[in-house]
Amino acid sequence: MKVGVVGTGLVGSSVAYALALDGVGSELVLVDANLKLAQAHAEDILHATPFAYPVRVRAGNYSALEGATVVVVAAGVSQQPGETRLQLLGRNAKVFEQVIPQIVQAAPGAILLIATNPVDVMSQVATRIANLPPNQVIGSGTILDTARFRALLGEHLAVSPQSVHAYVLGEHGDSEVLVWSGVSVGGVKLSIFAQQPTYTVTPEVQEHIDHGVRYAAYRIIEGKGATHYGIGAGIARLTRAILHDERSVFTVSILNAQVEGVQETALSLPRVVGAGGVMRTLEPELTPEEHHALKHSAEILKHAVEELGF
Ligand code: ADP
Repeated sequence: MKVGVVGTGLVGSSVAYALALDGVGSELVLVDANLKLAQAHAEDILHATPFAYPVRVRAGNYSALEGATVVVVAAGVSQQPGETRLQLLGRNAKVFEQVIPQIVQAAPGAILLIATNPVDVMSQVATRIANLPPNQVIGSGTILDTARFRALLGEHLAVSPQSVHAYVLGEHGDSEVLVWSGVSVGGVKLSIFAQQPTYTVTPEVQEHIDHGVRYAAYRIIEGKGATHYGIGAGIARLTRAILHDERSVFTVSILNAQVEGVQETALSLPRVVGAGGVMRTLEPELTPEEHHALKHSAEILKHAVEELGF
């Protein structure tokens, strides 16, 4: 199956590398405004495939995306140190006006996976420009935040993150909502599981984990200028779920008709992902405080989209 990656900067090339190493798809097409860059990444990643899976990797123009099942969109301008995701919006919306119509023309049936930040707003922008059903245009949303939440909880509780069920909802950004009330380990509620003295989840521990999840991107950008490996792996995982019609649950962002009373906004909720893209959205049980925080997150995103005029 063919997978396209449009925008082969740090994020796009990391997605492509993760796809090749994981053997997701059989053919990988890389597209970038900078053709030489796409060609160089295609050649480099192709040389990794003898050590991994026989994925055919090449660079191409938009017409080479014809027949793609999934197209990852990572084109854009990168986040500067100290720049908020929402500040990136205007610059990246212009990039999408160029890129999205060409993708849809070449591969109208493809599921679009949006990685460009600010990802929630960019997913809404992409949905409008593409004029596709919302379930076909999926932002990576809080998949990485959810992964970080599970990883930090797993570390504290001395349990594999795979056995920790915990979700981050809302904006992929400062207003995101860590759903503490829904955390469970092997079906046991956190409040029960964490009763042993070493593993108690005190307000300090909670604060430490919240900070670790919410501000991870800022720390990484401060140290190395960008975040890309984590999201590369996350997008490859999502792509696999689509190609294999897995119906696994991920916190991804699509345009919602309504969330917490806020109309027409894209943000992350737990969603079932399979061959049709987002096949269902789950409505988790939340405390009144979590409902309020989710509404606040939706309002922030709605405001950003309105400012942009979408
Ligand atoms: P990130 O860290 O988010 O990956 P980069 O700046 O490294 O950011 O990568 C963004 C990529 O998007 C660059 O390779 C750039 O050439 C590409 N890009 C920007 N505008 C367009 C466009 N209009 N069409 C295709 N690719 C684009």
